[in-house]
Amino acid sequence: MPDLLQIGGITDAMRIRLEQRFTIHQATDDYPGDAITHIVTNGHDGVPADILANCPNAQMAASYGVGYDAIDTDACVARGIVVTHTPDVLNAEVASTAIMLMLTSFRNFLSDEAHARSGNWETQGNAPLSRSADNRRVGILGLGRIGQAIADKLKAFDADVHYHTRSEKDVPYTYHANLVDMAKAVEVVICITPGGPSTHHIVNADVIEALGPEGTLINVSRGSVIDEAAMVAALQSGKLGYAALDVFEEEPKIPDALKSMSNVILLPHVGSATHETRAAMGTLVVDNLISHLDNGLVITPVPETKHLNG
Ligand code: NDP
Repeated sequence: MPDLLQIGGITDAMRIRLEQRFTIHQATDDYPGDAITHIVTNGHDGVPADILANCPNAQMAASYGVGYDAIDTDACVARGIVVTHTPDVLNAEVASTAIMLMLTSFRNFLSDEAHARSGNWETQGNAPLSRSADNRRVGILGLGRIGQAIADKLKAFDADVHYHTRSEKDVPYTYHANLVDMAKAVEVVICITPGGPSTHHIVNADVIEALGPEGTLINVSRGSVIDEAAMVAALQSGKLGYAALDVFEEEPKIPDALKSMSNVILLPHVGSATHETRAAMGTLVVDNLISHLDNGLVITPVPETKHLNG
């Protein structure tokens, strides 16, 4: 059987299917680099340069997740290694995460829940009023597969949807070629671009200040997209009103300053983390690997390696 190198964890369902077709080796153990033809990894661990160098006969790397900024696709292309990811199967889940972050932030449900649970309702009276989550002007930074799913779900809340991308899309939302202009025009910015150099700190101090003291910044993309230090400073000084974050620059580290702020919601990168969606992602990862074994073609190559498919 061909040799597969496993970087990071995989689900039991993935392992059961993969064991039928591959001999699995762990990247944390001694592994026979020359024998490895396939690699399974994830969006966090990617394929480190030393592993790539240790596997001269690798043909394919399958990543569990849609974002692949942790994989050096240039190096893979140079080596003729096709890279796959898991687009679309997680759109609805990540979009729901973004919407729930927005709703929870506006409606103050975390402190309301604490108010009820602690008995403060009985002793101190009603919880303070919150902000309505309906009829908001919402700017989506990155209107791709997930961004579009967020826009669809925002319809239920009668949102006025704006977006910023590098190229204008054929959609019924307000386009802003300039991100600062969008931040000025909206009350909420939801980040859902890929990570990597082209979006690094694209949400900088200017964007954050344009969003303003009543503005809400939501991030379900990558921590690198927001200048985290500038965001923390703006939250501390009141230049930014609220933040609701699923991702951080130095995961799993979260700046201590954020942990003590009541106008901030923090999640441990769980955008797609449900049993159902992770199962669908795992199935697609394994389908890609088996398809490559069976006919040399993969199902969902990342755009940079599409030309290597076949
Ligand atoms: P897509 O490739 O479908 O969409 C990306 C969008 O971002 C496009 O609209 C693109 O438009 C825009 N974009 C890309 N680069 C820039 C830029 N420099 N400036 C402005 N806009 C840009 O990706 P998906 O929607 O499938 O996924 C998006 C990302 O979400 C993933 O790459 C991943 O990092 C993140 N993610 C996070 C999860 C979580 O758990 N929190 C789970 C799943 C995904 P254009 O090309 O016109 O600029």
